[in-house]
Amino acid sequence: MIRSIFSYSKTELEDYLLSKGHKKFRAQQLFDWLYKKRVADISLMKNLPKSLQEELGSLFTWPKLDIIERLNSSDGASKLLLKGLKQQSYEAVILRYENRTSLCVSSQVGCKLACAFCQTGKLGFFRHLSLEEILGQFYLANQIVSEEGRQISHVVFMGMGEPLDNFENVLASVEALTDEARLGLSSRKVTVSTSGLADRIEELSTKTKSALAISLHACNDKLRSKLMPINRRYSLARLKESLHTYQKNTGNKITLEYILIQGENMAPQHAKELVKFIHGLKVKVNLIPFNEHPGMPFKRPVEQEIEFFQKHLSERGIPSPVRYSKGQGVSAACGQLAAKDKEKINCVPLRKNVVGF
Ligand code: SF4
Repeated sequence: MIRSIFSYSKTELEDYLLSKGHKKFRAQQLFDWLYKKRVADISLMKNLPKSLQEELGSLFTWPKLDIIERLNSSDGASKLLLKGLKQQSYEAVILRYENRTSLCVSSQVGCKLACAFCQTGKLGFFRHLSLEEILGQFYLANQIVSEEGRQISHVVFMGMGEPLDNFENVLASVEALTDEARLGLSSRKVTVSTSGLADRIEELSTKTKSALAISLHACNDKLRSKLMPINRRYSLARLKESLHTYQKNTGNKITLEYILIQGENMAPQHAKELVKFIHGLKVKVNLIPFNEHPGMPFKRPVEQEIEFFQKHLSERGIPSPVRYSKGQGVSAACGQLAAKDKEKINCVPLRKNVVGF
């Protein structure tokens, strides 16, 4: 089977090229292009003869992504609608801040998990993205921001899909992003965000030290199962157990994402349940006011309600900044991906809103 160019460590690549009759130094040349210059198009690797470019092009799989559409928001976000190796399209979002540039990457086309507040969840599941398609988003985005004198400094797996449901390809991507010999981002700057697949959180923590974010959104099982059906499979107690294991293995603080939805999950009792859930864990809570979108039955809270909820946490010493999502003007904010582009996804889902793999 032809492997992705990104799946090779330096030694493996040297051995493989030697076995194909090439010189060992070609591996170094490929590594320089891919990981120092951040160029993943073999036709642009100018110090490789044309005939060698063609041969290497067929020995590995390479990222081939087309930008179908690029939408820029006035707050510094850009949404990229991409087409990869197969026809269905997916999205990545560049987020520009004063001192960093983040990329929100997708790991699947659509999603199986059907969270009630999420547009991607409404699409159903189409397919997993390959390793090249996931890392290809990084290369394309980096190419765009390098023209502005920036580099992608942080990667968050918070785009379309549940990253831990595409475990192998996401793990291989995290390894390539954080390996010092490859893209060399600090593991603190690569965040895997999950709806709470407890078994895989534990497995992830034995294989990488990447940062972890949990889409939490409610701390009693009845409400969380309503908002996030995955909770029927992994209860809050099981999720918390996996978070303890993650912290034992990595020593990392965990980010808990809590979308504030008016009349649903932000009464005083919900704040108390959140504090109780956090007890014993080292966490930061990001409070995200719900981003309204047509067709969604939920409402964004008013400032006073947000302040009340936030105060309950901060008075108990829990770091809980309120995060206002960038990119709302182009439907690139949290939970909005694929909201306007459903027709562009371009096929019928394999599975419609199901929990279970
Ligand atoms: S929030 Fe994440 S896990 Fe839930 S449906 Fe949306 S993409 Fe899937």
